[in-house]
Amino acid sequence: MERPLQPGGTIGILGGGQLGRMSAIAARRLGYKVRTFDPSAGACAAAIADEHVTADWSDTAALTRFAQGCGRVTLEFENIPPATVEFVAKSVPCHPSASVLATCQNRRREKEFLRASGIPCANFAVVSSLAELQAAVKSIGFPCVLKTADFGYDGKGQVKLPTAEADLAAAWAKIGGAVGVLEAWVPFQMEISVLVARTVDGRTAVYDPAENIHRNHILHLSLSPARIPAATADEARALALSIAEKIQLVGLLAVEMFVQDGRIVVNELAPRPHNSGHQTFDANETSQFEQHVRAVCGLPLGGTKPLAPSAMVNLLGDVWRNGQEPDWTKVLADPSAKLHLYDKGQAAPGRKMGHITVTAPNLEEAMRRAEALHAAL
Ligand code: AMP
Repeated sequence: MERPLQPGGTIGILGGGQLGRMSAIAARRLGYKVRTFDPSAGACAAAIADEHVTADWSDTAALTRFAQGCGRVTLEFENIPPATVEFVAKSVPCHPSASVLATCQNRRREKEFLRASGIPCANFAVVSSLAELQAAVKSIGFPCVLKTADFGYDGKGQVKLPTAEADLAAAWAKIGGAVGVLEAWVPFQMEISVLVARTVDGRTAVYDPAENIHRNHILHLSLSPARIPAATADEARALALSIAEKIQLVGLLAVEMFVQDGRIVVNELAPRPHNSGHQTFDANETSQFEQHVRAVCGLPLGGTKPLAPSAMVNLLGDVWRNGQEPDWTKVLADPSAKLHLYDKGQAAPGRKMGHITVTAPNLEEAMRRAEALHAAL
């Protein structure tokens, strides 16, 4: 059995984005040394790391250098080639595994895993040609949504097919004509997500569901805990735990779900910290980033309880009007608002640059204040 990696050791993080940056902050607070690996020299996690390796995912010499001296390796980005993780795992324990990553990064494998595991998900069919798509819409029905199997996130690589009048050839061309998944449209009332952590020896910790509100397919607001009945929250947590067990997760997993008529339909899995869990940094006993570190290192897992109702609002590049740095004092003037900026440099529209978390005595107030701070920028 793998021994825990105690604070003082070195953690390697594959990927250098904001999720890696915040995991690195949590790891350093615990006294770990941190090494990051990313194809970009300017990756925002690099500023927090003791060392940063800039190289391509397939550069085995660089991966060997990166892994040397690491006691554990993890990842923060879903589209890393599983072969990279497999290569690193030959010399250092790497969590999550290449197989968990391969399942979660491809919608076909993900859906097939969910269906085979008896987890409720939208009805779907795998399609690899226009003819198969034409046949699949007949069995799935309208409305439905066609998604690419690979590299989909934040609504990218998706086409909604509302009615039988939809142009299937155009939809097929739009997703690039590769393998796709045709999914029944779920008329949900709410989108929620649940974070679950699991260690190599099977210990688990699960968070309350967060309620997610999107704008232009990108997460805008995340409210915690979600405004759902206790029984629905229990079902959501139980499903997340069951998925973690069945996929043999080691690390942290975010499970995105739809709530439809009080029942849960699982949409997507992300085996890493998640945007909808950022409020845990300021509003829960243990942040998702520290939990991620604890889980991959085999440490005792931390408590997950919310300390207060919270609202997290994303700061996209759009907030930098004409490239001007916003007046952050407007946020900092609110005594219970926490500002997180990722130091990414160039602010492009839609680019996740930071977030604000507001805690309050109730969720409505937290939400109102978070929206007001966002609007004031
Ligand atoms: P995804 O990239 O699969 O997470 O999808 C992005 C967003 O599209 C989700 O957060 C939903 O708002 C919406 N969506 C995706 N799949 C479905 C579906 N089967 N039914 C209804 N809405 C969906």
